Amino acid sequence: MTADTANLPGTTGSAGGGSGSGSSGSDPAARAAWLRATLNRHAHAYYVLDSPTVPDAEYDRLFQELQSLEQADPALATDDSPTRRVGASPAGQFAPVRHSVPMLSLGNGFDDADIVAFDRRVAEGLQAAMPEAVGPHGVEYAAELKFDGLAINLRYENGLLVEAATRGDGTTGENVTANIRTVQAIPLRLHAEHPPAVIDIRGEILMFKADFARMNARQRAAGAKEFANPRNAAAGSLRQLDSRITAQRALRFFAYGIGMLEGAPMPVSHTALLDWYAELGVAVSPERAVVHGASGLLGFFHEVGLRRAQLPYEIDGVVYKVNALDQQQQLGFVSRAPRFAIAHKFPAEEALTVVQAIEVQVGRTGAITPVARLAPVTVGGVSVTNATLHNEDEVRRKDIRIGDTVIVRRAGDVIPEVVAFVPEQRPPDAREFVMPKACPVCGSPIVRGEDEAVARCSGGWVKCAAQRKGGLLHFVSRRAMDVEGLGDQLVEQLVDRNVVTTAADLYKLGFVALAELDRMANKSAHNVLQALEKSKTTTLARFIYALGIRHVGEATAKELARHFGTLDGLLEATEEKLLQVDDVGPVVASSILQFLQDRLNRELIEQLRAVGVTWPESQPAKITAALQGKTFVLTGTLPTLARDAAAALIEAAGGKVAGSVSKKTSYVVAGTDAGSKLVKAQDLGIAIIDEQQLLKLLEEK
Ligand code: NAD
Repeated sequence: MTADTANLPGTTGSAGGGSGSGSSGSDPAARAAWLRATLNRHAHAYYVLDSPTVPDAEYDRLFQELQSLEQADPALATDDSPTRRVGASPAGQFAPVRHSVPMLSLGNGFDDADIVAFDRRVAEGLQAAMPEAVGPHGVEYAAELKFDGLAINLRYENGLLVEAATRGDGTTGENVTANIRTVQAIPLRLHAEHPPAVIDIRGEILMFKADFARMNARQRAAGAKEFANPRNAAAGSLRQLDSRITAQRALRFFAYGIGMLEGAPMPVSHTALLDWYAELGVAVSPERAVVHGASGLLGFFHEVGLRRAQLPYEIDGVVYKVNALDQQQQLGFVSRAPRFAIAHKFPAEEALTVVQAIEVQVGRTGAITPVARLAPVTVGGVSVTNATLHNEDEVRRKDIRIGDTVIVRRAGDVIPEVVAFVPEQRPPDAREFVMPKACPVCGSPIVRGEDEAVARCSGGWVKCAAQRKGGLLHFVSRRAMDVEGLGDQLVEQLVDRNVVTTAADLYKLGFVALAELDRMANKSAHNVLQALEKSKTTTLARFIYALGIRHVGEATAKELARHFGTLDGLLEATEEKLLQVDDVGPVVASSILQFLQDRLNRELIEQLRAVGVTWPESQPAKITAALQGKTFVLTGTLPTLARDAAAALIEAAGGKVAGSVSKKTSYVVAGTDAGSKLVKAQDLGIAIIDEQQLLKLLEEK
């Protein structure tokens, strides 16, 4: 079945601003029909076309609404209701595969109460037949991650991979064996002397975040379609008719379940199953735990939540499964999901809302960023009213207009962004964004260089208060001069009242001027003055970074400080000298020179020195040609130099020190008791030297 719903009632002009109104809520039958049609259409886009048009949270919201309508009036639950089905029917281009054991979905929980209720249902379900299952700490669960990819069934016969199929509608999937054979993480033969006669290994095909970013960058460069997220990229890559294309996509796999098994005893628990898979050479995630009762489940959820952003792949929640397989059997299944397992979802990172206006913000370098003003919406657990649109080209590329319903994304601590608009919800009077000709803050012309993606206010910090504020906030920020207690609101007032124009003026601030500001108690004014005084003693790297030179981030500032040793060294640098600095290419060099040639910037630097900003100066680094750009790995104990001291000498001479040996390593410096790094260096044919040879290199000119 494909969901051709174009003519069904209520499918046009639907959900606006995430409200998902559709047909009127007063007639439950009509509403249920509209929900079924809409959900089927979304499911088709998601499962068959691998190209969803609304966020998952929107789909889940409509799904839950349909579920509650059907619960209130079971007569509304038609056989084709999405609440009764898993996924979507397989697409015609692949041969169908009938699953020996159905591949089901998972029930969902969204908050702590859902999980407590799940645990209670499980305990009650086991109590009568298996009272021993509910121990003093509750039922034992295997907790694991909910990988955001797509489910696959891998059939091995006598240890050999013979067939791979997608989940499809749960009963029948698509034969994607040729494509699966290209996935490196999936063994073509199981590591076992006596493998089972038949085993269906189930798990998730996924794409790591970094691979996804690389793939989309390639697609963009080739003018091809980009994927909305790693899940759709994984599904789209696997469901290719040409397996050579799949082979080029970096797909991964983690096993988490089993279907049919013949010729081997079934393991007693989920944990034992995964351990067995690992022995068979099948990838399982190390991120799993055995926990007890609802508090154990919630503890796992919160712990994983803290690490979610750092994981190399996307997860949309965690999954809890009753660990003992006999207990799983006892609990059984409802129509589309097992009773013994549940997915505990994280707050959605994407939501639908309406763009009420597109305004521009002026950054510290004058960069003009279009920002969408949004109808308030909760994303990733917080209320969002603004989202960046990055730059003018991005607005055009994504074709975002005022009045559009858009998908907003907020992942981890990343600034919320507008991902895409929903075409079917574009109102006829949606307006295109027009880049203003003049800066909204100072009125200076906005200009955009030919090769530049970013338009800028030409006012500079002298004319433009927004640039002054941005520049001052950068100057006092933690990684720059680190002036504690001088936040946006204070800087805003200081600039608006013309008390402060340049960073040097900050150091001339008196107690009265500060104490007069709104929301400023005497004590806080004292604290700010103290923090300013303290910040005067800094490092050259921080000072350079604080100046806010375009393209000079923290790392480049450190390199410049290390290379020149003194500020005067930097002030006198020519382009040629700048280009000798690691990290500095023609664009950065020209930006530094432009900054330093500006009379006002020179004056600012002198004023800052005059008010007493100081740092210890050092000798300019003696770059040794033999070491510059070379990567060293240190291993074992060197006869005279401590590891840190050797590393410092190498870095001071322009070399780099890495922690592990790779093809990119230039030299391995080996001392006594050198271990695996030495072996690897020998394997890769990398030059191995001792301390004496290192010192010799350092002496070379
Ligand atoms: P699901 O994704 O909520 O849960 C079931 C699936 O989880 C399994 O099939 C398996 O693939 C996966 N999974 C990951 N890790 C697992 C683990 N450790 N153990 C077991 N399973 C694991 O359910 P579903 O039925 O695949 O799809 C529903 C989801 O798809 C919802 O999140 C829904 O929002 C989304 N969806 C979105 C749209 C849209 O238009 N945006 C349309 C349809 C469905």
